[in-house]
Amino acid sequence: MNQLRHNIATMQGYVPGFQPDDIASWIKLNTNENPYPPSPRVKEAIIAELGSEGDLLRTYPSASSQKLRETAAHLYGFDPSWIIMANGSDEVLNNLIRACAGEGEEIGYVHPSYSYYSTLAEIQGARVRTFGLGDDFRIKDFPERYEGKLFFLTTPNSPLGRAFPLSYVEELAQRCTGLLVVDEAYADFCKWNALELVKKYDNVVVTRTLSKSYALAGMRLGLAVARPEIIAALDKIRDHYNLDRLAQVACVAALQDQDYFRESCRKIVETREWFSKELLQIGYDVISSQGNFVFASSPDKNGKRVYDGLYSRKILVRLLSDPLLAHGLRISIGTREEMEKTLSAIKEIG
Ligand SMILES: *Cc1c(COP(=O)(O)O)cnc(C)c1O
Repeated sequence: MNQLRHNIATMQGYVPGFQPDDIASWIKLNTNENPYPPSPRVKEAIIAELGSEGDLLRTYPSASSQKLRETAAHLYGFDPSWIIMANGSDEVLNNLIRACAGEGEEIGYVHPSYSYYSTLAEIQGARVRTFGLGDDFRIKDFPERYEGKLFFLTTPNSPLGRAFPLSYVEELAQRCTGLLVVDEAYADFCKWNALELVKKYDNVVVTRTLSKSYALAGMRLGLAVARPEIIAALDKIRDHYNLDRLAQVACVAALQDQDYFRESCRKIVETREWFSKELLQIGYDVISSQGNFVFASSPDKNGKRVYDGLYSRKILVRLLSDPLLAHGLRISIGTREEMEKTLSAIKEIG
């Protein structure tokens, strides 16, 4: 196919976590979805938006998602001009690369973290540079002055679960000449976040998703917080109707029901702490997590063996193909009952 651009023809493409067809018959702990449903107000808002005949679906949604920007801005303490809404945070990550990194220009990120940054860079024809993590959980060999167009920092990190201290994120902001994109997909499960750095440094962007903490992975909702010049650039690039009507009303309803949201996060964090402690007691190695998942490894450091044992009991977790991570598994935190079953299964497997 010589009609294709060379980088597209030769790239691998991202492989998302497995979504089985018979989802209900599994304990599904492989893609960090929320085990609890979204706020009941989400369903009410969607039904109201559909109307009795679904007649509003004839008409285009708000192109700017203005109501959502205002709701998010109020929640996070910013002016709406500092917020953009996205069709999943993946969309805004993509548009940040398109906005800042031309062909042959460099983007960087920490490995292991979210490998999708690399896929997005390949599509753009940008160069990718990855940095490892030291035992002190600092980035190895990070230059005093990093001149890549973008640097992506996943914090709390996935799949490891640890969050970088805010002082360290700030240090990185000072050392990057391009944008520092702080991917806070899991920040709602963590005690701190980098929003204040967006106000303090003109190169800091924070991205969030409603997929995990708000239990709306199926609606595709994300956002970015950045200074207005960056938001304006991202607005030029996105699809003009990037969020459909149902996603828009769902988003507002979910963000407005903070009591429900906080309670659901609280339960997940509580279960995470309980599950981590139990695993440690049976001799597993568990990285202290600030996300809605834990990265854990068996005493024999054989991720595949435990994965297979769980799989045969219809429990799905994430085994990462990277050799750096093959000793362990990333296990999303489900309900307390699901995690009790998972723990019993792990005890049987050994
Ligand atoms: C889940 C995840 C995303 C993607 O979120 P969506 O809003 O579902 O696109 C982005 N970054 C990280 C680190 C994630 O884990």
